[in-house]
Amino acid sequence: MNFILNNIVCTNILEMSPYSCARDEFEGEASIYLDANENPFDNGLNRYPDPHQKDLKEIISQKKAIGSDQLFLGNGSDEAIDLLFRIFCNSGKDNYISITPTYGMYEVCGRINNIERREALLDDAFQLDVEKIIALWDQQTKLIFLCSPNNPTGNMLSKEAILSLCESFHGIVVVDEAYIDFSSEPSFTNYLDQTPNLVVLQTFSKAWGLAGIRLGMAMAQKEVIDLFNKVKYPYNVNQLTQQKALDYLVNKQEKVDQEIKNIIAERELLKRELNELSTVEKVYPSEANFLLIKISNATGIYQALLQKGIVTRNRSKVVLCDECLRITIGTPDENRVLVEQIKAITEK
Ligand SMILES: *Cc1c(COP(=O)(O)O)cnc(C)c1O
Repeated sequence: MNFILNNIVCTNILEMSPYSCARDEFEGEASIYLDANENPFDNGLNRYPDPHQKDLKEIISQKKAIGSDQLFLGNGSDEAIDLLFRIFCNSGKDNYISITPTYGMYEVCGRINNIERREALLDDAFQLDVEKIIALWDQQTKLIFLCSPNNPTGNMLSKEAILSLCESFHGIVVVDEAYIDFSSEPSFTNYLDQTPNLVVLQTFSKAWGLAGIRLGMAMAQKEVIDLFNKVKYPYNVNQLTQQKALDYLVNKQEKVDQEIKNIIAERELLKRELNELSTVEKVYPSEANFLLIKISNATGIYQALLQKGIVTRNRSKVVLCDECLRITIGTPDENRVLVEQIKAITEK
């Protein structure tokens, strides 16, 4: 293990003191709050939200079996991705590694922060080639972005490969688990205590059905989470989001669990139905809430589906995804309509 946290944090971040907001300086219960220049007349939202999201973190960390100081909450996982670049990568100097194909946001965030990307092509089974990744990094490489289950391919990356990268890399290994709730495999949060350079990302946008509230999580050892807290906007998770997420965590866990089961069952059913269509060349294995399919004339099918009001994701220009569409698992009715329409289009 070559990892020493302070060696890879940007100097400006190491040396700065975070903004200290009114609610930081006074924590506790008082009867009169005259410290934050808020409007005093109660309308339910006239006060700043808890900058540390204490109640939310307590319940999430219990559910995830981690410490609440090992958890960062942000405005979607996208905020956590952006903060990773800002904490660890010096603009115009450092670089990061990400896999191809994968989620587009790492590259967009990297470009905004002016950080060079080094690309690790997955193999034909969409798996990591550890040796190839090791050959890509140098002292200026600060982050490796992995995504498991991967978007758009749907498969889990090999656990052994990820752990071996954590073991040998001097920087941070990010494992984006946006789809982990749909997977039969356990989360990498199990390895947090023994892996100081691991950051696991999860989100409320997929399985929890709360894409609209924008709430994402980063989980890591406390020293890494402290850096996120130093750099984030003081009130980065708004009051409405905190309230809604708390309501779901306390009252809706069973409903969400049932929805996840239904989506997984629908995924398997849709997979069988699509496999029966002669135009579908391949349905890739998926541990997520979408299927990647290879279909002849993918772009034509994509356009024809659009004409019928059905939007899928055309991935046919993506490396290793020739002639592929990514299809989110919908309701049972929506999935049946999809299959009927693909049949109708291709039988014409
Ligand atoms: C959908 C998705 C996310 C979610 O991002 P949010 O900002 O939390 O909505 C993160 N990572 C991947 C790989 C995704 O596909």
